[in-house]
Amino acid sequence: MSKTKSYAASSAKSALAPFTIERREPREHDVAIDIKFCGICHSDIHQARDEWGHATFPMVPGHEIAGVVTAVGSKVTKYKIGDKVGVGCFVDSCRKCPQCLKGLQQYCGVGMSLTYNGTEKDGTPTYGGYSEKIVVDENYVLRIPDNLPLDAAAPLLCAGITLFSPLRHWKAGPGKKVGIIGLGGLGHMGVKLAHALGAEVTVLSQSLKKQADSKRLGADHFYATSDPATFEKLKGSFDLIISTVSTGMDWNQYIDLLNIDGTMVIVGVPDRAIPVAGFSLIMGRRSLAGSVIGGIPETQEMLDFCGKHGITCDIELIPIQKINEAYERVLKSDVRYRFVIDMASLKAS
Ligand code: NAP
Ligand code: ZN
Ligand code: ZN
Repeated sequence: MSKTKSYAASSAKSALAPFTIERREPREHDVAIDIKFCGICHSDIHQARDEWGHATFPMVPGHEIAGVVTAVGSKVTKYKIGDKVGVGCFVDSCRKCPQCLKGLQQYCGVGMSLTYNGTEKDGTPTYGGYSEKIVVDENYVLRIPDNLPLDAAAPLLCAGITLFSPLRHWKAGPGKKVGIIGLGGLGHMGVKLAHALGAEVTVLSQSLKKQADSKRLGADHFYATSDPATFEKLKGSFDLIISTVSTGMDWNQYIDLLNIDGTMVIVGVPDRAIPVAGFSLIMGRRSLAGSVIGGIPETQEMLDFCGKHGITCDIELIPIQKINEAYERVLKSDVRYRFVIDMASLKAS
């Protein structure tokens, strides 16, 4: 075991603060990773504040991990010392159920081992990326393309794959009209990826504040949802809408923006039940769906796609000492568009 500096929440009500954890020595199939950067996902805040229930403390959040391999176990074949790698939202799964066998580990029938706020198969608590290093089985490690900077690539491990997976599953591409609700960490990756896939992309944001940015990110159109005229104008126009919002909203109003056979996919985790009027779906053979992150093969496909197209996240790099302030700014939708922690700053704490 090796002592590892980290930042942890000791309870749902406490601020994050320096904390020391133990990381295991690499086993035969393990890769030891020196964490260089870790993104701050809104899910980190939901979990550190126990908004989804069943949170375990102390909690070291962080599942957008980018770093460099420092050691490998004797049977590791995929990685070597010095490789640029990433770890996303899970570090293991049962490997035997139909979903795992199809590479859809995010839907593992037994349940994945979450990167943090979870347990390894042997019951050991997992600790996430707000730390100096991590040890992960090579089958759950991703390769980061050499042309992508590690800091701006880190959020691809959650924000990137969470949008790539539904965009691919519902076939976003040339001739398809895609709407993205919420231009935050997930939303801005949705715009970049949908644009690169060839779809016509519209951003639906609370105000016009992010309009200029959205064009730069690749959006074709931008509308403020605070303006009721937006909903009149866009009625029946989208093949696919992806919602990244985590608050309540008038769902029927958005479903009515779908074309016939259109699908609305929820990736943002709403903080309350979703009331949907049957007629919103019936009149147009529309679907309401959900999607969670992506499996290991699809996450690698997304990273390679981003490498090929030169896609990374727009980030604000912060020292870990600013973590609590950053959380407050995420809640106010005041980040352009993802905070990433420079883990070198952890040495000073
Ligand atoms: P984020 O950076 O905070 O972005 C959320 C966006 O929602 C904001 O930027 C904002 O965009 C919009 N929004 C709409 N109404 C809002 C309101 N009343 N207050 C604040 N913002 C509002 O968060 P994120 O990291 O992208 O995550 C979004 C959600 O997805 C979270 O619930 C997170 O837990 C969830 N998530 C799900 C998955 C999955 O696999 N399904 C994976 C990762 C995260 P505008 O300013 O443009 O309106
Ligand atoms: Zn996340
Ligand atoms: Zn499984």
